[in-house]
Amino acid sequence: MHRRGAGDRGGDRKSLTQQIDTRGPGLVKTKSSNCLIYFKKILNFTRNSKLVIMQSRYSLNLGKPFGIRVSVHWTFSLLILWIVFISVNRGLELPQIFMHIVFVLALFVCVVLHELGHSLAAIKLGGKVSHITLLPIGGMAHMTKMPEKPREEFIVSAAGPLVNVVIAGLLWLYLLFVNPVDYEKMEFNVITANNFPLMLLVANLFIVAFNLIPAFPMDGGRLFRSALAIKMSRLKATRIAKDIGQLFAIIFIAAGLFFNPFLVVIGFFILLGAKGEYEMIKYQDILNNYTVADILSSEYASLEADDMLGKAAEKLISVPDRGFVITENGEFAGILTKNNLISGLNTHGKQGKAKDAMITDIRPLSPEMPLYEAYQLMQKGKHELMPVYKEDQFTGILDQENIHELFLIQKAIR
Ligand SMILES: [Zn+2]
Repeated sequence: MHRRGAGDRGGDRKSLTQQIDTRGPGLVKTKSSNCLIYFKKILNFTRNSKLVIMQSRYSLNLGKPFGIRVSVHWTFSLLILWIVFISVNRGLELPQIFMHIVFVLALFVCVVLHELGHSLAAIKLGGKVSHITLLPIGGMAHMTKMPEKPREEFIVSAAGPLVNVVIAGLLWLYLLFVNPVDYEKMEFNVITANNFPLMLLVANLFIVAFNLIPAFPMDGGRLFRSALAIKMSRLKATRIAKDIGQLFAIIFIAAGLFFNPFLVVIGFFILLGAKGEYEMIKYQDILNNYTVADILSSEYASLEADDMLGKAAEKLISVPDRGFVITENGEFAGILTKNNLISGLNTHGKQGKAKDAMITDIRPLSPEMPLYEAYQLMQKGKHELMPVYKEDQFTGILDQENIHELFLIQKAIR
């Protein structure tokens, strides 16, 4: 789930504020296995992870309810194939196999509604949701901005399962008043038109129960953390929630090896998710102690706007810098990162000028700005370097690489 990032690694860390939520109907046979993890950022954060399969470019767009893009990941087709495979193995007829597929699709509609529940609650509380992705193990709401106050997090985490409670309630009313069924004659080993509403009701209750397991970063774990965060720091609350989450993850993986492979996948997601999210909170906690001035680079490689890109390339090879500050008539004019240089060389060749490839539309930072806030701006704008101005005067650059180094050093000595 790691993104198309501008930077070799800056890009990888960019979604610190994103949120993943996974929950899944596992096999039809076991009704559903379901979990919810806010996860994306983790994988982005875990820079070495190569879980590119989560990237949204491998997804099919389904629509844009409430302005939130919903897409289904290509691996979802594996779930359908798997259902067909186990159904054929059980000796089911074509209409029954079809019914099982329809059931899984209906369940995933419920999963989308669950994610929309989280998303709309988050938006209402000032968060931002970019899109929802459906995976075979569930859905994920990708949040670019998440409400962080304990009470807000509690509401956002509860909103998803609450949607499934409402769906189950509506199905119950339907079975009670509109289409009463004779439970004694009902068969449950295969899904039929007759037992469909009841099975869907049960599956929704299962989604609720599974998501409420306090396995951070699933919904239950988030609710638990938000409750802890009322009494202690968010970092400490996250550490406790993470430890418990990882314990559950190991149980899921062990149980999944015997009962359901989806549980194994979910277990790994929780394991990685808990660690990644804890790291992210730690990142925020450390950066909150600094301002831009603390790691501002006032020494940097610079070039004139009219210098040729060929010269920049030579200089970059001899001086291991992340990029250049470009000046024009003695004034700051823009930033030329390695990536800008490479794409500039592709477009304009060695004779192209620095000013043709540099970035100019970067809002300058002030030295007093809290470092975490600056870091978020860098992530949002995908900037590896940003100019810093003091009283309208260019005074240096902030390098995302340096922020990460500061984090690693502080983490090591804490
Ligand atoms: Zn959820």
